[in-house]
This record gives sequence, structure tokens and C-alpha cells, in this order.
Amino acid sequence: SEHLLEVKGLKKYYPIKKGFLNRTQGYVKAVDDISFAVRSGETFGLVGESGCGKSTTGRSLLRLIEPTAGEVYFEGQDITKLSLEEMRKRRREMQIVFQDPFSSLDPRNTVERILEEPMIVHGAGNARERKAAVSRLADVVGLSKAHLQRYPHQFSGGQRQRIGIARALALQPKLIIADEPVSALDVSIQSQVINLMQDLQREFGLTYIFIAHDLSVVKHICDRVAVMYLGRIVEITDKEMLYANPQHPYTQALLSAVPEPDPDLRKERVILQGEVPSPANAPVGCAFHTRCPHAMDICRNVRPQLTETEAGHLTACYLYGETQTQLA
Ligand code: SF4
Ligand code: MG
Repeated sequence: SEHLLEVKGLKKYYPIKKGFLNRTQGYVKAVDDISFAVRSGETFGLVGESGCGKSTTGRSLLRLIEPTAGEVYFEGQDITKLSLEEMRKRRREMQIVFQDPFSSLDPRNTVERILEEPMIVHGAGNARERKAAVSRLADVVGLSKAHLQRYPHQFSGGQRQRIGIARALALQPKLIIADEPVSALDVSIQSQVINLMQDLQREFGLTYIFIAHDLSVVKHICDRVAVMYLGRIVEITDKEMLYANPQHPYTQALLSAVPEPDPDLRKERVILQGEVPSPANAPVGCAFHTRCPHAMDICRNVRPQLTETEAGHLTACYLYGETQTQLA
């Protein structure tokens, strides 16, 4: 299939327990029934403000946290049905890169050991083969031989992210979920890491899910983008279409916050009213209705479904008609 990953009806709910009886008083719907598919070889962006559920989605896809409901097909196999042992094996092919590589790199280990570790854990190769693989990994991410004997604290943020990326590549994965991989880095370093990721994608035929909190980074690396708001996907489309013709009012607002150097392309700035509601108390109907300048009665009552509004463009908003074919 052209899709490496297909996600159907994914949910992650956390019970809210209250009172001395510790009864469940409702749920934080961190991820609330989302569906999308990632094509082999593409970079799929997952974008939204902090707390929208994008990191929870990334971790749920790898079952680093267990989803509450839904199916995740990796190469056609529903990995939510795998035993933990089967899942552990499958995870070789699906790796994650974290926002803050420092907290995920063991400070007591040298870079050499950090890069070798996943291969040891998965029983990949003998000692000599692993050593050779480590020096190749260092090479492809631009670290030198001397770097291999140093410890994480001896590196800059950008170099640490190179180590995190090299470690993710150690088991030759097909999919890498990158959770805000450059958000903690200086702007000048961000583009170096992005360029490296693009080179690696070409060289190794990688598929990326790239998580970001705004649309500016995504513009350079993603092929398609899903915009999330309060645990839901509100729009999915090609990057070009998203920038030229954003449909969901929330996407329009996010986009108007991205600096646009060309005055002809500059859009009128949309200022959102109010704050993002708590995911413990998401509004009924369209979750965005409390902040949307176009909210109608139906928006306050019935949740809009992600619908194909034009070829290759899915939007969950009543402004785009209810007669469209609903996405299964
Ligand atoms: Fe606004 Fe209604 Fe569209 Fe939601 S469904 S974004 S409230 S117009
Ligand atoms: Mg996050």
C-alpha cells in the first residue's frame, strides 16, 4: 500500500479522579478520535499549540503510552493488537526523536555507548559489526570519531540532537516520529538540523511524522500537514494547499501568526479571542466554537467531521458544507 501508517479512531483519555472515594469524574480527552494516513517516504506534519495532543499522539502510535481506543496499521498490520514482546520487536522500525535530547541521553554513557545501546538491546550484529555501525552513524549525522568518546553534557544542543537522531537511526527504522526536534534549538541551528533530517530521509528512504507547535518550521520540511486543536484533527492537506488556501478558521489563525516576507502573500492577521479551553473540559460540538469568529448554532451542538472539501483537502468545519462525503 502507498501508506506506511494508517491511524483510525485513535483516542487517549485520562480519567479525572476526585474526592475521597477517588471516583472517575470525567476524562481528559488528550487525543479524541483522530484518523489519518501517512504515505511511505513523506514527511507528515502534526501541528498545534501545546496541550493539543500532538505529543500524546506520537507516543500512542509507538505504544510508548497505550491508546484508549483505535487502530494503528503499520505496513497493514494493526500494531495495537500486538503483545508487548511483539511490539518491542516491531519498534525497531518505528523510532522517536525527542524535543530535548539531553533528558533522553544517559549522562553516564559515552556517545559510542549511546549509539550502540539500541543494537545491543535488539541483538543486532556482533561487537565488531556494531562498532562499525556506530562509526557510520556518527559519520552520517556529522559527528567525528573523537566525539564518540565524549559524554552528552560535553555537546551543544544542536550536537545533542544529532546524537538523538543517530540513535534513532541505529536500527534502520522506516518511520521516525520527531517530536518538536528543533523547538529547543537556536534558530541558526534549527535549519542545520532540518537540513540533516532531509538529507537522511533521502539517503535512507525514511518516512517522518514531524510534530511542531507552529507552522513556520513545518513549511520547510513537510509534504502534508495535519492541524490539531484540543485533541482533534481539524484539517489535513498538502503543504502548498494549506498555505495558499487554509480552510479551518483555526488554521487561518495559526497561519496568520507565521511571518511572511512577501507582502503580496501576507494574510490579514486573525486574532483569536479567548484562551484554549482545558482538554478536561472541551467544548461540546466543534471544540473551536468558543474562539471561532464564524461560530453558528450547529457548531455549539454537533461535532463536525473531517470531510473532503476539495481533492486532497480534509476539513472539519461547517463553513464547508455538510453534503460532502464523510471520510470513513
Ligand atoms: Fe467555526 Fe463552526 Fe467551523 Fe467550528 S465548525 S471552526 S465553530 S465555523
Ligand atoms: Mg509536546
